[in-house]
Amino acid sequence: MLQRKFNISKNEIKQGYYLYINVSNISKSDNISINFNEEELICYKEFNTCSSYISIPITLKQGEYKINIKNNDELVKEYNINVLEENFEKQTLTIDQNQIDTKRNDEALIEFRQIVLASRNNPVLDKMWGDNFLMPIIGKITTEFGIYRYTNNNINPTRHYGIDISASKGTNIQAFSNGKIKIARLTIMAGNMIIIDHGVGLYTHYLHLDTINVNEGDIVKQGDIIGTVGSTGFSTGAHLDFAVLFNQTYTNPWQFINR
Ligand SMILES: [Zn+2]
Repeated sequence: MLQRKFNISKNEIKQGYYLYINVSNISKSDNISINFNEEELICYKEFNTCSSYISIPITLKQGEYKINIKNNDELVKEYNINVLEENFEKQTLTIDQNQIDTKRNDEALIEFRQIVLASRNNPVLDKMWGDNFLMPIIGKITTEFGIYRYTNNNINPTRHYGIDISASKGTNIQAFSNGKIKIARLTIMAGNMIIIDHGVGLYTHYLHLDTINVNEGDIVKQGDIIGTVGSTGFSTGAHLDFAVLFNQTYTNPWQFINR
């Protein structure tokens, strides 16, 4: 039997970026899992290799971290990675308090979290995405990935996990890549919201839509019109809040798309 081989794409990485690991020469009876930052990640199989993508949270403190690779719960490989600090900008924003109380209250935050968790059920195990990705709309970037946001002079910032792209109401939104529609529904905070599972742990989120053109369970192709830009939910004007994630962790969208 061939010896298992391990490969990691980088050992040093900034907050908000991703790396990948692949294990080759695995056998049928192997059950490889990868553990990082208290999250157990699935290793997605293709022939005799499996791969896993690890996104470094924007909030993870800089320093050394371990990635453990297990086979049937037995440790088979360990990597040390060095997480570096990214320089995220700060933004101040004034928002009508009524909008916060009704659209960004505890109920809204809990609902959002539950929907994101639900979207991870029965994940797509095949890699549906290819080598290039599509910006869902063309427009001005009004809020960048990862920034600190100070709302109404509150001293505690929130973080912004997607990018805000402004465009007029009704602008068509295209699918970032091939995938399966996991969520397509109205929510309190995100308004009309779509989540696409592109397979192998890659997900995209589209928030505040005016209309939704797809149903949960649909299979879409890259470029398909999935909905239109709006200002539903916790939003102050027509824009798309677009986010990219590996597993449960937001990652910088500019790793996939050229500016
Ligand atoms: Zn936003």
